[in-house]
Order: sequence, then C-alpha cells, then structure tokens
Amino acid sequence: MERTYLMVKPDGVQRGLVGQIISRFEQRGYKIVGLKMMQIARETAEKHYGEHAGKPFFTGLVDFITSGPVVAMVVEGKDVVVTAREMMGATNPLKAIPGTIRGTYGVDVGRNVIHGSDSVESANREIAIFFKPEELVEYGRAIDTWIYE
Ligand code: UDP
Repeated sequence: MERTYLMVKPDGVQRGLVGQIISRFEQRGYKIVGLKMMQIARETAEKHYGEHAGKPFFTGLVDFITSGPVVAMVVEGKDVVVTAREMMGATNPLKAIPGTIRGTYGVDVGRNVIHGSDSVESANREIAIFFKPEELVEYGRAIDTWIYE
C-alpha cells in the first residue's frame, strides 16, 4: 500500500483545523499509520523544502513552517499520494477548487494550511525526515473490506 506525508501547517493548527483536516482523510477511507505534533527545527525545514532553496519565498516559507507547531502524519492507502494532493487542492488557495482543503480554508499561498508529498519518491524522503521507522504503526482495520473490493 502507498504512503504519503501530510502535515497541517502552523496556520492550520492555530486556526483549530487539525481535526477537520484529519477527518477528511479518515472519512475518505485512508488509514493513519503515523501521527504527531511537533515544532520543526530550522535545519529540518530547510531540508524538507530543499528543492525551493534560493527561491524568493524560501526564507519566508522556512520562517513560517517553523513559527509554531505542526501536526505531521503518514497516511496509507491506494493511490494516496495523488489523491491526497487532489483533496488538498492547488498550491495557491485562490486557485484551489472550492471543497478542497485549501479551497475551503485558505486564501494566501503562504498560508495554505496543509502540506502533502507530490510523488511517491517525495513521500518516502519526507516520511524519513519526520518519522522514525518505529513511529509508524502497522495494523489492520475490520472496516477495510468495506473500503477496498
Ligand atoms: N509557497 C509560497 N509562495 C510561492 C510558492 C510556494 O509561499 O510563491 C509555499 C507554499 O506554502 C507551498 C510551499 O511553498 O505550499 C511549497 O511549494 P510547492 O510549490 O512545493 O507547493 P505544494 O507542493 O505545497 O502545493
């Protein structure tokens, strides 16, 4: 089963959206296999967002993502990487389709509420940055036969 790295950003935590955001993935049928609150160290944030180093928004992005607690999770299920991105909506919330997470809760690109891995490779890289292997839990759910045919 595929896994992705999702993170409610500091704006989502401050605005009390953690429960509603987690609920969307649970209700879709996806399984949470890792979950924690943390405040990201600057060095870790720079590594996570390494592909954006040098871009004009990079320093502000690192300032923002380290400015308060985030809620990090690893979510598992069929095609979860692409599906979670669709559920999140476009990077710029003003361009995000209403009903998506960003299209429901966001306005500005620098306050877009949630992060989600953009590929399976990114997911593996990001999961390894934020979670130790022993923090990920393997378990079955009785309901899985009602979600997967
Ligand atoms: N970002 C920003 N200004 C920009 C572009 C991106 O503040 O002009 C931030 C935004 O929070 C975004 C993050 O940088 O979520 C990472 O950008 P990316 O293009 O990877 O978007 P994502 O994968 O998060 O949709």
